[in-house]
Amino acid sequence: MIKLENLTKTFTQKGTTFNAVDNVSLNVPEGEMCVLLGPSGCGKSTTLKMINRLISSTSGKILINGEDTSGLDTVTLRRNIGYVIQQIGLFPNMTIEDNITVVPRMLGWDKKRCRERACELMSMVALDPKTFLQRYPRELSGGQQQRIGVIRALAADPPVLLMDEPFGAVDPINRESIQNEFLDMQRQLRKTVMLVSHDIDEALKLGDRIAVFGQGKIVQCASPDELLAKP
Ligand code: ADP
Ligand code: ADP
Repeated sequence: MIKLENLTKTFTQKGTTFNAVDNVSLNVPEGEMCVLLGPSGCGKSTTLKMINRLISSTSGKILINGEDTSGLDTVTLRRNIGYVIQQIGLFPNMTIEDNITVVPRMLGWDKKRCRERACELMSMVALDPKTFLQRYPRELSGGQQQRIGVIRALAADPPVLLMDEPFGAVDPINRESIQNEFLDMQRQLRKTVMLVSHDIDEALKLGDRIAVFGQGKIVQCASPDELLAKP
């Protein structure tokens, strides 16, 4: 599970200091998906970036599976975390197979195991390995590329998945199907997921719980049913 305790990030912009993330505490139980929902600039991305240590925290604690991550080296930490961003970030000069297996190859998996894993993951997002393994990212549509971005994050089977507006750049028609595929995948894989979104429909559809952010704080944390029941 992911547990945040009084997590704070202070930034200084033009001489003014403010808390982009302000004393946030949150618990995501193992196997659940929590959506961080809120308008632009309220601290959602900064929260994810602190969890995978793209930026440091100012104060507070981050625990993964009960362990304070400040005691982990960055390689060990990142091995436990898959990260998906809106901008996809596939490596343009690598085939789809090599893109998907970047982390497993760094971990020393042999070629056969890498290929099997790539094929297994591709079948979950309805991309035929025969057609796509040896292609390059530019030969795929935006929606197909984002599917690869999602499965690449899962390649070495990390228990935790952080997703920052993962479907934000996908057109509305593809978004619907990529969301559904992801829900199916999550039902099988039961990752502990934190997903950032500014789209309430997406949050209601995907989240087991929704943490509503406003100006660096969590203003409400509830299940979709509870959120809908309130006036
Ligand atoms: P969200 O993901 O909710 O859109 P962010 O976490 O990206 O919000 O940003 C929260 C606030 O922190 C914004 O006001 C943003 O401008 C500010 N911010 C983010 N990163 C930095 C930074 N590196 N330096 C200064 N301010 C930053
Ligand atoms: P995201 O889409 O993840 O919210 P942004 O587009 O807000 O990212 O920001 C891109 C990068 O610039 C991030 O690394 C973020 O930390 C940094 N950043 C965002 N706002 C500011 C700011 N006001 N000053 C300095 N850096 C910022």
